[in-house]
Amino acid sequence: MSDLDRAFKQAFDDTEPTGFGSGWWSGTASVFCGTLALAGVACFLFPDYLTTPEVRARLPLEWARGILQAVILLAFVLGMISTALRRRKVMGLLGMTLASIASILGGSGIDFTLSSSGAPSLGLDWFALNVLLLAVLFVPMERLWPLRPEQSTFRRGWTTDTLYFLVSHLFVQITTFLILAPAQAAFTALDGQPWRDAIAALPLVVQFVAVLLCADLAEYGVHRAFHAVPILWRFHAIHHSSLDMDWLAGSRLHIVDVVATRAVVVFPLFALGFDQRAVAAYLVFVSFHAVFIHANVRFDLRRAERWIVTPRFHHWHHAKERAAIDKNFAVHLPWIDRLFGTAYEPEGRWPEGYGIEGDPVPADLLPQTVWPLSRDRRR
Ligand SMILES: [Zn+2]
Ligand SMILES: [Zn+2]
Repeated sequence: MSDLDRAFKQAFDDTEPTGFGSGWWSGTASVFCGTLALAGVACFLFPDYLTTPEVRARLPLEWARGILQAVILLAFVLGMISTALRRRKVMGLLGMTLASIASILGGSGIDFTLSSSGAPSLGLDWFALNVLLLAVLFVPMERLWPLRPEQSTFRRGWTTDTLYFLVSHLFVQITTFLILAPAQAAFTALDGQPWRDAIAALPLVVQFVAVLLCADLAEYGVHRAFHAVPILWRFHAIHHSSLDMDWLAGSRLHIVDVVATRAVVVFPLFALGFDQRAVAAYLVFVSFHAVFIHANVRFDLRRAERWIVTPRFHHWHHAKERAAIDKNFAVHLPWIDRLFGTAYEPEGRWPEGYGIEGDPVPADLLPQTVWPLSRDRRR
């Protein structure tokens, strides 16, 4: 268990039941909304430092205000429900306190003024929006159709993975720059080539499928290399150190893994000169699909499994079972693995356990970040 996990357990653990109707879910959701409300208010107060041009360009200010208002209101309502239902009031009260602070600081009515410095900023807006959308989508999904019903939303390592999610979103400007720079440098010279114009003129649906195919072929290659080359494996081992699979588990990725993998994946997309809208559609698809394939859900997707990577296919990639090791490298198109002979798809079965034999990777984010370069050479 990580140190943060332990601290959370001490702060909130009570012996009361945690089922629906016990005030547990309303309390947790109230704290979640209260925290997001504070993050939202911070974005309004310090937009130069905490919001990104990419989000500002796409999310109308009135929408942002509406979302913030709704989140503050939800924190209050859920907090009241929880304090009414539960003997231990700590979560409901905490959620309402956070929402009160957000309101006192000005709530959704704060003036939004940007100075035109253009300095790099943290993507707190990007984090808050993404965690809200994904949690609203995936937490109920995992409670309603769980593969492992006994696995809590707050399973072991959830704080570590939440930190990964936070850090990767806060530093999105830096990582995006690092990911795109090599491909941009390599291919600006190709601008205006007639064959690139021909590709960009294809119907968008065709381009989207082609982008998916090119990206996943590149992903397959670089992912396989991350498993085969010992020094690369030490970076990728962080992703495989999760002992439980759920929607957050996919966030656990070493920064070197993220940048190197994505830099390779965008290479063919830049080289071939796809329309930006097709690439944007692919990025939206990835951001949901990559989360979905880690999720703790038991959907029977046998028909889709032939064409598209499902949770079962990727869960096998994380499996401890010997026969499943170094299998299922594709993240979108499973037939790439079938083509190269690395698919592992036992009929109707799910893995018994996940992680790496011997569990060599430490539990927290910082130790994990330095671990690949440390002296600990166990594999
Ligand atoms: Zn892997
Ligand atoms: Zn994974």
